[in-house]
Amino acid sequence: MRNRGYFSDFGGAYVPEILTATFDELEAAFDTARDDPSFWPEYEALMASYSGRATPLTPAENLTEHFGGARVFIKREDLNHTGAHKANNVMGQGLLVKRMGKTRVIAETGAGQHGVATATMAAKFGFECTIYMGEVDVARQRPNVFWMERMGATVIPVTEGSRTLKDAINEAFRDWVTNMDSTHYVLGTACGPHPFPEMVSYFQSIIGKEARAQVLQQAGKLPDRVYACVGGGSNAMGIFSGFMDDQVELVGVEAGGHGLDTGMHASRLAEGADSSVGVAQGYKTFFLQDDDGQMRETHSVAAGLDYVGVSPILAHLQATGRARFESATDAEVVEALSLTIRKEGLIPALESSHAFAQAFKELPEMSTDDVVIINQSGRADKDIFTVADAFDDPSWREFIRAKAEQYSA
Ligand SMILES: *Cc1c(COP(=O)(O)O)cnc(C)c1O
Repeated sequence: MRNRGYFSDFGGAYVPEILTATFDELEAAFDTARDDPSFWPEYEALMASYSGRATPLTPAENLTEHFGGARVFIKREDLNHTGAHKANNVMGQGLLVKRMGKTRVIAETGAGQHGVATATMAAKFGFECTIYMGEVDVARQRPNVFWMERMGATVIPVTEGSRTLKDAINEAFRDWVTNMDSTHYVLGTACGPHPFPEMVSYFQSIIGKEARAQVLQQAGKLPDRVYACVGGGSNAMGIFSGFMDDQVELVGVEAGGHGLDTGMHASRLAEGADSSVGVAQGYKTFFLQDDDGQMRETHSVAAGLDYVGVSPILAHLQATGRARFESATDAEVVEALSLTIRKEGLIPALESSHAFAQAFKELPEMSTDDVVIINQSGRADKDIFTVADAFDDPSWREFIRAKAEQYSA
């Protein structure tokens, strides 16, 4: 069973012997659910009542006019509960946990968004919940830690290594090995050992299914291009999957950070990315690693894209030429976010703004008969601390200073 889960030469399941039965159990639960005709409708009904689905496809008339090229539509994953597409994945896995009869969930989180989403799911389903988070991230992301704890989750600051996301992943696996009978590991993106990349993509495919029907209805045709940002790759897999068998160009946009030639970025698939193929964290893909296979530090203005690996399914789509991968720099992203707020009154997350930035580079040269969809994977108003920093807003700094004084008085 363990040789399954390869896409081209990427993916697989490089897991410790002791977890083999647990992975088999998960794979079986997933296969059974996927084959059960009542499962997807149950999932859709849950997402409708809990997370406001279907999310709209919003025509962006002002941006369309501004660039004078293709007609722009925006898929509104920002309107999900907790403000991003992450809800699709965690709620889907929650249903599987119930089917497996487990009572406890664990998760890793970097910026804290996946931790918050998992904690909401655990509260809703009545599961015990433990979130592993690097000590550095716990300090940086107090608002998210605050919400996780309010929802009853135990947040464990990880003090190993660089005390960030990759160390939190290692700790979560360590917990799973000890508690696998009661516990499910809710992995946050379309990465990790099989069946996670396929399973997470399956739940996220709700984005693409809706978007395809909506664009046919609203634009009267399929889109020419679909843009999505790529961290681990789950929102991209979600919207791409709706158009996989169509003549639609799929464009994934990675974090260009300060530029691909500076080493300070998180691009693994875009041309010029200094990544290489390796096996880490239980799967095979392109990683940002040094010659000894040590994972490198990554950088992005968007914490959710700041990851060393990438979905093996996206690596496969690149290898087969089905998808194209680009990168947008921090500066381009902040500019794209400003323009989108000003023109449409929408507030895409800094992650999502990567997809906008790349689309904005290409729109003017497209025809007015063309249609594009940009996936707005999440919203930025919850990230006001990061966004205000990115905009370098002086009155915001003054506000924070005044708050700090209020507490120290
Ligand atoms: C977490 C996150 C991402 C990155 O994750 P993917 O798995 O690549 O989708 C992108 N956008 C938002 C808003 C996020 O919260």
